[in-house]
Amino acid sequence: MKAAICFEPGKPLEVRDVIIDKPGPREVLIRTAATGVCRSDLHFVDGAYPHPLPFIPGHEAAGIVEAVGDGVSTVKVGDAVVTCLSAYCGHCEYCVTGHMSLCLGGDTRRKPGEPARLRLEDGPLNQMLNLSAYAEMMLIHEHACVAINPEMPLDRACVIGCAVTTGAGAIFNAADLVPGETVAIVGCGGVGLAAVNAAKIAGAGRIIAIDPVADKRALAHKLGATDMIDSSAEGAAEEVIEMTEGGVHHAIEAVGRPASGAMAVKVLRRGGTATILGMMPLAEKVSLSAMELLQGKKLQGALMGNNRFPVEIPRLVEFYMRGMLDLDTIIAERMPLERINDAFDALRIGDSARSVITYN
Ligand code: ZN
Ligand code: ZN
Repeated sequence: MKAAICFEPGKPLEVRDVIIDKPGPREVLIRTAATGVCRSDLHFVDGAYPHPLPFIPGHEAAGIVEAVGDGVSTVKVGDAVVTCLSAYCGHCEYCVTGHMSLCLGGDTRRKPGEPARLRLEDGPLNQMLNLSAYAEMMLIHEHACVAINPEMPLDRACVIGCAVTTGAGAIFNAADLVPGETVAIVGCGGVGLAAVNAAKIAGAGRIIAIDPVADKRALAHKLGATDMIDSSAEGAAEEVIEMTEGGVHHAIEAVGRPASGAMAVKVLRRGGTATILGMMPLAEKVSLSAMELLQGKKLQGALMGNNRFPVEIPRLVEFYMRGMLDLDTIIAERMPLERINDAFDALRIGDSARSVITYN
């Protein structure tokens, strides 16, 4: 099977033939239908976040189950599935207390000494985030995917696996938004747009989309934003504070830059909470000042939207089927695996919404 491989950070990915093993116990072999191109991949591909080389990136996929190993009970051959990097063991402290997105998932990977799931003809190959989704096939633990409504178009289902689960989880789980409360979303890429759409579903009062790119602000408006703010304009944060009479109840950062994290904190009202979703450069910090602490402001991370994906991904699929979740607007372009480097270039410029790789 073919896959896109990172041999050296900062260099274009190479599409090569890869050998994929048969499913072992609890493992699922998936024929990939579509993979969303997420900014998190770029951090690994560009070397900002370290990863053992060579590796196949990609972590936002949908496909059809081709084969299952012994003991697989959650999916069966022929099921349509969405994958999620939040592979969970099911029995650690995080899992049993309902925080499965924090599970370190040791049992969902093969042990050292066992044959690797993926390899090159002439050497080893690393799986990224339990998935490695820029590939015609994936071999993953059954706890890294979930079966969905077979009517769901897979080229749209894939983006639920990361961007939509993260953006919607920030609203539904991390912010725990009460209908009528105000929310500001800083950054309107795939994750931010999903947060805007989820805020509308959750019944937010004002939904304020903050982004420097006019086209992305227009997409946010289409998905339910009530107000759009150009983050590059002078006094952008002050404008949000003024229009909400003191700031928002919830601010969601979906970019991964210190300046957007600072913006999320700045637009909060007294007692408001900022949720940081983006992957910032590893040395960076976001903070609350002494006065902001006295004002009861809160700052939190929400890894992958604090998801419980086996429950939440099928629900998000149903939101799409009912016309409440607008994935068609979130997805900008579809392209074959051979154009993966063009998709990353588009992300580096940052002007468009989501690209999706599709396979024949
Ligand atoms: Zn992602
Ligand atoms: Zn666990």
